[in-house]
Amino acid sequence: MIARLRAWRQWQPFADGPYACSGGSADGLDSTIVAIDHGDGGTGWGEAAPLGSFYGPAFAAGCRAGVAEMAPLLVGGPVAPRLVNRRLATTFKGHPYAKSAIDMALWDLAARRAGVPLVELLGGRDGAGVDLYRSISAAEPAEMAERARELIGRGYRRLQVKVGVDPAGDAACVLAVRDAVGPDIVVFADANGLYSTAAARRFLRALGGADVWIEQPCATLAECRAVRSHCDRPLVLDESIDSLEALLAAHRDGVADGVTLKIARLGGVTPTTLVRDVAVDLGLHVTIEDTGGADIDTAACAHLSLSTPAALRLHTVDFNAWVAVSNATGMPAPVNGQLSVGAGAGLGVEVDSSALGEPFVDLRV
Ligand SMILES: [Mg+2]
Repeated sequence: MIARLRAWRQWQPFADGPYACSGGSADGLDSTIVAIDHGDGGTGWGEAAPLGSFYGPAFAAGCRAGVAEMAPLLVGGPVAPRLVNRRLATTFKGHPYAKSAIDMALWDLAARRAGVPLVELLGGRDGAGVDLYRSISAAEPAEMAERARELIGRGYRRLQVKVGVDPAGDAACVLAVRDAVGPDIVVFADANGLYSTAAARRFLRALGGADVWIEQPCATLAECRAVRSHCDRPLVLDESIDSLEALLAAHRDGVADGVTLKIARLGGVTPTTLVRDVAVDLGLHVTIEDTGGADIDTAACAHLSLSTPAALRLHTVDFNAWVAVSNATGMPAPVNGQLSVGAGAGLGVEVDSSALGEPFVDLRV
């Protein structure tokens, strides 16, 4: 039984200054942290942070309002994550990003009570670590190339260049990064759905023969399908994949070679694992990451990614290195550009709730 549910707000400023993508910019992440206590002992932790209100159909105040609205529906009820998901599908429809931290906390709690790292409940670990990528905000080509060199110096082996504004200028930026980092570094060009089909075609043509993966060139599946026949590079869908139905449609239409799954967009560990497992079964490459967060969320990304078969795994994100604050201890530092999981049970991280201040929700049976 869920005996108590608490939730906190944490402002997480970006360590390297403002981050721009998707036609917007943010100075940091407005995160929601959830703790769920089991009636028989044990606490699970979860976190969700929308990237501003410009990245996706989500905003931080909505996340907090959703958690506050759901808390009375959950306290006193079951703790099994899939059971809670099914109940909420009836009693609190939609709003997946508001459900994400709750679902994550329930999985952390389940794994802690089982005495195993979460990765073991999600399919078991494949390998010792997961490749990390780092995004490069849109800027002038020379500036982006310099940023790329700096990130390589910090150990990252995979880079994602933000594009989607001006096809010719964007291509110049991607080619500058491509030239700056050498052939061993994997480069993605991510438009976050900002291109029209015409702009996407012009961008692809301007890239020439450069070895670059393409991520979410246009907003809708139909537009990406129209561009697909002009794209001989690997194409990954991100923002389009907001449900299992969307994944199946993308596969049916032959649009995607891979998918980027964001935990909060899908609604937590439960739906992300479902979509991940189906994607793997369909032979698609998979990235698991999130819209934002710090150590708690980064741990969840690591456990989900490490339990994804390595042959189809792309990369994940270390948001705890993006932000200047921490909310848990125990996340191992990356090794050779790879992230792993802590040794402890559950998410493998420990949270000091007293460091989070006053919760905005504190409900108990
Ligand atoms: Mg993306």
